Amino acid sequence: MADLNQYQAFLRSKIKSVITEAKTASTLTHQGVKGTVLEILISKLFRPLLPSDVGVGTGQIIEQESGKLSTQMDIILYDKSIVPPILFDESTGIFPIESVLYTIEVKTTLNATELSIAHESAKKLAEFKYLYGLKDENGKLLEHYIERVRSVVFALNTDLSGKSLTEAERYEKIYAKKNDYPHIRAICVAEKEYCYDDSEFWVTFTNNDMYDEILSFIGGVTNTYKTVSKSRHSPDLGNYIVPTVSAKKGPKTREIKQVEALCNNCDKTYQLRPLMGKQNTTINGALNFNDPCQNCGGKLSSLEGCYQFINGELV
Ligand SMILES: [Zn+2]
Repeated sequence: MADLNQYQAFLRSKIKSVITEAKTASTLTHQGVKGTVLEILISKLFRPLLPSDVGVGTGQIIEQESGKLSTQMDIILYDKSIVPPILFDESTGIFPIESVLYTIEVKTTLNATELSIAHESAKKLAEFKYLYGLKDENGKLLEHYIERVRSVVFALNTDLSGKSLTEAERYEKIYAKKNDYPHIRAICVAEKEYCYDDSEFWVTFTNNDMYDEILSFIGGVTNTYKTVSKSRHSPDLGNYIVPTVSAKKGPKTREIKQVEALCNNCDKTYQLRPLMGKQNTTINGALNFNDPCQNCGGKLSSLEGCYQFINGELV
């Protein structure tokens, strides 16, 4: 197939040389062949060919709430502007789940057992909890939609032979048997095929030996990583760092004006600080409070009045 343009021609020729090198390395029989293959794929395929704001590493993923760690992930694509990883060297580290966009399981030869193991590992990762990354104007965390990590499989070869089954069809048999969903979202086999879950169907591209499958795979990641990244917003890295020790309050640093708030239901009264973000505004009437009455859950509001706020503070 002819190249669309010079950009694609360059990528295709890079891919060809890297895959040739990785395949040659994978046929060696010394210890640590997998490590050598990973090293080649990270340093010569993913790092140079993915957009430069995508971090490429290897290691484990951590959840803030429980502190639990994932199993060892072959390749982790992450966005360090969300929350940075802790790196032990150029590539290896611990990655907060909020920053992880993709995980790539690398197989030299993909078979049903390996696919099943990759499925279980992706399933465990799907259970990780994410910190929210959005706050309202008063600094309160807001719930929002989060695109979870996408787990994918990348293989140099496969034991599927002939044209009987595609990788997607083989994988469907595996997760259907477990009564489960496809936790693996894409499978790429060099010089064979690339398939991805479009949220309803598997879409499969089969090969002609021109590395179209790897171009499609890299193009797919390139098209989606920003959407995944944006859905995470900006969680506080401090949640991973600040020790959970008890702290006491006082002495006072400044006088904050409060107003009397009344429950519309049970008449209980409170002294509350109105939260107005950072606005300069004047409100004629009653102030309404977001938090409900602790006594009965009723709505709280102040008496009618004229309330002036400067930089969000009542004056
Ligand atoms: Zn009440």
